[in-house]
Amino acid sequence: MTDKNKSCPILTTANGAPIARQHAMTAGPRGPLLMQDVQLLEQMQHFNRERIPERVVHAKGSGAYGTFTVEHDVSKYTKAALFSKVGKKTECFLRFSTVAGEKGAADAERDVRGFALKFYTEEGNWDMVGNNTPVFFVRDPYKFQNFIHTQKRDPKTNLRNMDMQWDFWSQCPESLHQVTILFSDRGLPASYRNVNGYGSHTYSLLNDKGERVWCKFHFKTKQGIKNLMDDEAGKMIAEDRESHQRDLFNAIEKGEFPQWRVCIQVMTQEQADQFQWNPFDLTKVWPHGDFPLIDVGTLELNRNPENYHAEVEQAAFKPSALVPGIGPSPDKMLQARLMSYADTHLHRLGVNHHQVPVNKPRCPVMHYMRDGQGATAETYGSAPNYWPNTRQEAPQPNEAYLDPAWDIGQAIVDRYDSTQDHDDYTQPGNLYRMFDDAHRDRLTTRIAGVLGQARKEVQMLQLCHFFRCDEDYGKRVATKLGIDLSDLEQHMPSAKEKPQPVSAV
Ligand code: NDP
Repeated sequence: MTDKNKSCPILTTANGAPIARQHAMTAGPRGPLLMQDVQLLEQMQHFNRERIPERVVHAKGSGAYGTFTVEHDVSKYTKAALFSKVGKKTECFLRFSTVAGEKGAADAERDVRGFALKFYTEEGNWDMVGNNTPVFFVRDPYKFQNFIHTQKRDPKTNLRNMDMQWDFWSQCPESLHQVTILFSDRGLPASYRNVNGYGSHTYSLLNDKGERVWCKFHFKTKQGIKNLMDDEAGKMIAEDRESHQRDLFNAIEKGEFPQWRVCIQVMTQEQADQFQWNPFDLTKVWPHGDFPLIDVGTLELNRNPENYHAEVEQAAFKPSALVPGIGPSPDKMLQARLMSYADTHLHRLGVNHHQVPVNKPRCPVMHYMRDGQGATAETYGSAPNYWPNTRQEAPQPNEAYLDPAWDIGQAIVDRYDSTQDHDDYTQPGNLYRMFDDAHRDRLTTRIAGVLGQARKEVQMLQLCHFFRCDEDYGKRVATKLGIDLSDLEQHMPSAKEKPQPVSAV
């Protein structure tokens, strides 16, 4: 409806009925209000329900649409439609985030950054739900929820608690690799445009001959890695708590479209059997020297969302959104996330979250799941809601999409201890040895700054882990904590003894 005199739309209720005046309806100019002022009641009720549950992790984020373009042929590894030919373009949506902070947290904080990508392919949405780090803190999903509790607020003080955090890490040496990245310069990025993205998990790729290889995904920023020093971040937060959101939004508005080089690493089953580490362990990388990066294409972000809540807050990514040609691996953390992320969207957005436009596949969706909150007739209309059926027009499965069988050998079901028989020290040590002297100094100063807030016994336990990675790493942290090394050796004689790496598990 348009106002003929003013040529602007006429204000309406949520039902679409025209509104004459925007004033509360009262009995007399001084009140009281009337129950029949349904316009006001509707507005108040909607306001009370404006927020949806905050994400438990990755609550603060920024997102944008973009395009993925294939530049190199990788069809010998995967039949995934989005990689089918050089020059092919696929629409994407990327949401960056911090992990631990709530929705109101400042952007420029030391934290891992989420890098969650949705590819709208013609064979369904593929979600690559990654981070700006190639590894993670734990490899057993039983520890995940506990780990996140240590990053959140203390139940009594409602404050972040460094003792809680280091207590957990000191008990979980598999966290050393990610802890070293977190306290390195890359733990505090200058902006979302200046981070790499990593799928982190090992996935499988399947080609059209039914051959399977294991794969890791890498997204290398073409803007270059840029980080903030801690004092720079402090000043930035004092002036602007939304620095990453502002940077990303403004760059795209100005036409400075950020780009990432998209690469994969590939490992055959034979190589997996010989690999020094468990190739499905999320706390490990695959060294580039052994598994070189293979170029695939370019990801570009080139369109800002029109509405933050509808498109960024309601964006729902789940590693279980896989497409033909891309599959899971035995990675225990990935296996758990296949359920956990889908489950959180059921809680946060409801059973029909796929129908929210940002989540909606761009290809036809045909199945027999029906109804629930927010269901639309437009999606399924009068199509049958049961299967099997004899209706010609009804969707039927197609054997052409059957994955080859997966041989997992003679597996023994048990609750395996994820801390046993693992080498948790070599790779964080390799990373430490890549840093120059000044970087090692900054890393260990930051660690000592927070580890110093934990109990002494926790400090001692954690120091042993740093020593096992690299003697210099341990010595620098100990010195900055003011701990006498002879004292440490007396209490922890095995501090410098590095457990022997074991072969692939
Ligand atoms: P390489 O020398 O072949 O690769 C080193 C990798 O480390 C590059 O991807 C590089 O990324 C990245 N890197 C460089 N500086 C830093 C830094 N300050 N903080 C974090 N990452 C950095 O060695 P390897 O493949 O054998 O890996 C050695 C160590 O590098 C690993 O233990 C791991 O901690 C780290 N790493 C390895 C990755 C992998 O997939 N192999 C990926 C990322 C890190 P860039 O080219 O963007 O500078």
